[in-house]
Amino acid sequence: NDRVGTPDAIIIGGGIGGLSAAVALTRRGIRVRLYEKAHEFGEVGAGLQIAPNCTRILHEYGLLEEVKSLGVLPEAMVMKDATDGSELTRLDLDDLERTYGFPYMVIHRSDLHRTILREAERLGVDLRTGLAATAYENRTLATGVPGARVTFADGTSDEAEVVIAADGLHSVARRLLVDDEPVSSAYVAYRGAVPIESVRSHDVSETEVVVYVGPRCHFVQYPLRGGEMFNQVAVFESDKALRGEEDWGTPDELDDAFDGMCDQVQQGLPLMWRDKWWRMFDRDPIETWVHGRIALLGDAAHPPLQYMAQGAVMAIEDGWVLGEHVAAQGAARTATGSGVDWDAALAAYDAVRPEHCHRVVTTARSWGELWHLDGVPRRQRNQVLRERDTYDYTYTDWIYGRTALTPGQEPPPYPTFPLASVAVREELSGV
Ligand code: FAD
Repeated sequence: NDRVGTPDAIIIGGGIGGLSAAVALTRRGIRVRLYEKAHEFGEVGAGLQIAPNCTRILHEYGLLEEVKSLGVLPEAMVMKDATDGSELTRLDLDDLERTYGFPYMVIHRSDLHRTILREAERLGVDLRTGLAATAYENRTLATGVPGARVTFADGTSDEAEVVIAADGLHSVARRLLVDDEPVSSAYVAYRGAVPIESVRSHDVSETEVVVYVGPRCHFVQYPLRGGEMFNQVAVFESDKALRGEEDWGTPDELDDAFDGMCDQVQQGLPLMWRDKWWRMFDRDPIETWVHGRIALLGDAAHPPLQYMAQGAVMAIEDGWVLGEHVAAQGAARTATGSGVDWDAALAAYDAVRPEHCHRVVTTARSWGELWHLDGVPRRQRNQVLRERDTYDYTYTDWIYGRTALTPGQEPPPYPTFPLASVAVREELSGV
């Protein structure tokens, strides 16, 4: 060990996933050291939706009140047709909170990230920046117990009983352990969080999350920071990407992609940031995230397309589930380390999380298809959505209900939304 003192667990990556895993484990008596490759911790200055399966965990961590004071609790989530602006369906978020016991809310990413970072500091997580992990290896520690070693770009290394790689979509650990590639959706996202005054003359709701779904595009709007700011996300399929061009998703494609969409969307487009954009990738689900004492977590394990707004939420759930399994052992610290049976805790984590996140990743793909329909399927989708009862939670129970700790706690086979599968769409349109 090149460093002074041996932590029980090392976490690589100081995003929302890595930091919240650090909080989850430290609360359970685990000594955690976290490495972030950037020189400072930080997040993008845009918005994030967090559902009850996340706010429930933030409540357990004692962070929900602070998060609520920084964010917004919208009244409803409304889906509209981007072509004509008409309403298709809505979730009443007050009733949703009553149903699931915790709120659905929106928050500035950097506010949530900073809250979790401060909690990690308060709990005594050993936080280190400016170090990029380049290699991982399972090995026996100097104390004679099993563990893993991580090596950094500067040639130094560190080791612990367990190493958790929460290094995001382009995870180095994932490349080394699984060697698959991110899957391009050919869609790109533009963001823009602006002072609320900038949209006061627009036709916007300051109390709702609104998603306009259109042919090969969608547009999201919601208030942030107690209503002081307004967040917008514009997502579209890039023709350049479909043609195989390297330089795709560029700002010249943005306005064309929303050509013909309703006034509310047109009003919002000039406010999008045009100096940065996010190409949308996910990865095909994998069945195991644990390799000896090295485990994947967050986007490194299950990057989704963002259509269900569950990426950061799943990352927070991952850490919580691992922390619960560690706590369930009731292990006492020994002379050689934490005393935790990590093989058992990691096996329990691996038994429940990949299957759940697999469902979310594949459901997000089909929701994307559903949102971006055109022609006859679009009209059929609109009809099905308009007929949906606002208070029908059939399609959200398996996501927003309590986070399962074992496969037996997962809800039974979840329903597929009508039209959310190619087979159903083809049947309805008579193909
Ligand atoms: P990241 O946030 O990517 O963090 C990884 C960290 O690891 C970074 O700090 C990085 O610098 C560091 N790192 C990388 N490599 C190394 C290395 N080799 N060594 C050390 N450190 C390293 N999710 C939601 O829940 N709700 C939403 O509303 C939502 N909206 C979204 C909208 C858009 C447009 C997009 C693109 C995503 C959205 N998501 C949403 C998804 C969410 O942003 C991600 O799933 C989440 O941020 C993943 O967190 P993470 O900590 O796993 O990874």
